[in-house]
Amino acid sequence: MEYRERHKIKDILDSTAYGSEMLVKGWVRTKRGNKNVTFLSLNDGSIIHNLQVVVDVAGFDENLLKQITTGSCIAVVGKLVESKGQEQTVEIHANDITLYGTADPETYPLQKKGHTLEFLREIAHLRPRTNTFGAVLRIRHAMAYAIHKYFNDNGFFYLHTPIITGSDAEGAGAMFHVTAMELDNIPRTPEGEADYSQDFFGKATNLTVSGQLEGELGAMALGLIYTFGPTFRAENSNTPRHLAEFWMIEPEMAFYEIKENMDLAEDFLKYLITYALEHCMPDLEFLSKMYDKELLERLRFVIENDFVRLTYTEGVEILEKSGQKFEFPVSWGVDLQSEHERYLVEQHFKRPVILTDYPREIKAFYMKQNADGKTVRAMDVLFPKIGEIIGGSQREEDYTKLKTRIGELGIPEKDMWWYLETRKFGTAPHSGFGLGFERLVLFITGMANIRDVIPFPRTPKNAEF
Ligand code: ATP
Ligand code: MN
Repeated sequence: MEYRERHKIKDILDSTAYGSEMLVKGWVRTKRGNKNVTFLSLNDGSIIHNLQVVVDVAGFDENLLKQITTGSCIAVVGKLVESKGQEQTVEIHANDITLYGTADPETYPLQKKGHTLEFLREIAHLRPRTNTFGAVLRIRHAMAYAIHKYFNDNGFFYLHTPIITGSDAEGAGAMFHVTAMELDNIPRTPEGEADYSQDFFGKATNLTVSGQLEGELGAMALGLIYTFGPTFRAENSNTPRHLAEFWMIEPEMAFYEIKENMDLAEDFLKYLITYALEHCMPDLEFLSKMYDKELLERLRFVIENDFVRLTYTEGVEILEKSGQKFEFPVSWGVDLQSEHERYLVEQHFKRPVILTDYPREIKAFYMKQNADGKTVRAMDVLFPKIGEIIGGSQREEDYTKLKTRIGELGIPEKDMWWYLETRKFGTAPHSGFGLGFERLVLFITGMANIRDVIPFPRTPKNAEF
């Protein structure tokens, strides 16, 4: 086959250049037909839809056609023809076929349709070839792009914060240690503890749980920054909303107070949902049909309505008066569980909710302390079906208050001196938040389990692929 440019199926399906020759490459999804003609349904990942390739059996080597089965990879040169079929408007009539790779029908795991999502998790190396994961992964890409576009268009700078961190005081969860020491031969101090001074970095290091603290350093110079990178939490939480490795978007804004922080979070989320509706419709329609009939309606609803804003204290009052039996009882001071968050969003307000001013005991040390001495200027954005999608706050900019809080919580100052210096030198009011990327993709796709919106999920006891 002579060299020519490959046409993507996405473009071919929109083309009206009937009669012209095209080269298309992809994976066979299905094969059917009779002894005169074979119909191949071909997918190349560019769009959820398949291209129908019509093969006149007489014109091809019988042995070649026999080897083309579901899952095999081929290149086809053929003529674009207006289709008589119901399913598609165009098809390709093959003149020449090259077989790149066979897929033995006896052993190819995706031979049949209709596998469960649980089974597909066990074949994460092949599941991108299904309609569902193709749709999810294209949407995931579109959201990543839209995030960068939103921030770039609004004057934010993308700041790369480290993945290996020397501080274990970020306070957002259990951490994975990073070491170059041999685990079965760890150098020890006279007291018998691991001697990290002999480790690669000369100190104990971990995988980051958040880029925020370093993000704040950037905001104190560039004004508006955001991070977008992987974060790691070694919590053993086996829920449909937690991963051990997930991606987080963390904008940090000098001179923003909590009100502007909330406005940004709401505008940002609405932008991303709008972007998905404008750019991902074939995939959204497929997911809606297969998994979640109310998906499109829910997405539009969130764009069209203001988020409800209230304090944690008001939220707890509503929950206490609800008469609802929760698995975890609720009272002022408790950390809200997903069931409480979803009650407020789905039953009570029937809209996204931003809860603010949480008890300081259940929130991180860096949040700005309110005058009541009991609460901090936190804000969590709560979404239908998800619960918490964003956690953020206005930050404590007062050096003495922050230092005192760090002391109260027993966080070693030797780990925090550089962070405290932002409050010592040219401190400023500032705010930020963290959006869990997979929670966003969960919401946009309507999928139910976070393991199904990242290509290779990392969860307890699972790092095969
Ligand atoms: P949760 O209470 O749901 O466990 P969190 O309060 O520990 O979350 P934050 O530290 O506020 O989470 O992180 C900011 C955002 O990151 C959350 O709002 C959520 O969207 C996302 N996130 C947090 N933990 C995880 C996780 N283990 N897997 C996926 N996303 C997460
Ligand atoms: Mn949170």
